[in-house]
Amino acid sequence: MLPVLVVHGGAGHIPPERAKVSIAGVRSATRAGYAVLRRGGSAMDGVVEAVTQLENNPYYNAGCGSVLNVKGEVEMDAIVMDGKTLASGAVSAVRNVANPVQLARLVMEKTSHLCLTAEGANQFARDMGVAEVPAESLITDYARMRWRKNLQPDANPVECQMGKMGTVGAVAVDMEGNIACATSTGGMLNKMEGRVGDTACIGCGGYADNKVGAVSPTGHGEAIMKVVLSRLILFHMEQGQSAEAASDSGLAYMKSRVGGLGGVVTVDPQGRWAARFSSRQMSWAAAQKDTLHYGVAAGEHFTQSIDEPN
Ligand code: ASP
Repeated sequence: MLPVLVVHGGAGHIPPERAKVSIAGVRSATRAGYAVLRRGGSAMDGVVEAVTQLENNPYYNAGCGSVLNVKGEVEMDAIVMDGKTLASGAVSAVRNVANPVQLARLVMEKTSHLCLTAEGANQFARDMGVAEVPAESLITDYARMRWRKNLQPDANPVECQMGKMGTVGAVAVDMEGNIACATSTGGMLNKMEGRVGDTACIGCGGYADNKVGAVSPTGHGEAIMKVVLSRLILFHMEQGQSAEAASDSGLAYMKSRVGGLGGVVTVDPQGRWAARFSSRQMSWAAAQKDTLHYGVAAGEHFTQSIDEPN
């Protein structure tokens, strides 16, 4: 069953004109992450590779393509977690970096802290020699159009985002049985400046523990935080539920208790995996035993050989 890698490209209602590209990007990121695992790379290397690819893809709400805050600026959150040691690193409200997930990994590896925020995170990036990119290079016309639309007095940015999300995340188990997760986002549409969402918060925007499994979620961050979604799902797994049943239980609780919609990718230590969502859609892909699994609408599950062209 090992290695395995599962990726999501955000939960929501993906408009037909974006569904094809959304699923194509997730498939190619899954291939890239799985290639790392097949070469004997670690679960951490695999999830960071997959998420980096999606941050570089302007069709997702992460890195280039991030949604804008109320001032029309990009502020991003990202997290990684290593299930062997429970080491984790995160950044929140960070600007001017192309790959927040790699900066989160540096926080994990080079500091004694779990999360650096805003200017402190940017200072750390400079200290680490991470290239600074112009703020404009992370902004797409699509993001600017949605920002403008949601400045209208009658706009409902949360509902609009539930329509079209695109946060990215991955979970993996490597050949040695080590587990990791990574998640990256531009956050919620027209959020207040300085807003920190679930993605940067351990247990909410991701959790990995070799003894139980790993989860990377997407959805309304404030709802995810209220129920500590990732850890909640792993708790259900500790109580004996499968990755799939635990994912459904966690998402159902978030919906009934706080009215939040979203989705998750989940793995257990044996490499059993799930991609589940309570939103209308979520683009996802999984690679295992040289087979690529993928889907976007509820109940959809296609397969092809991992070596087939995208
Ligand atoms: N969870 C992300 C946030 O609230 C948004 C998303 O998943 O689309 O920042």
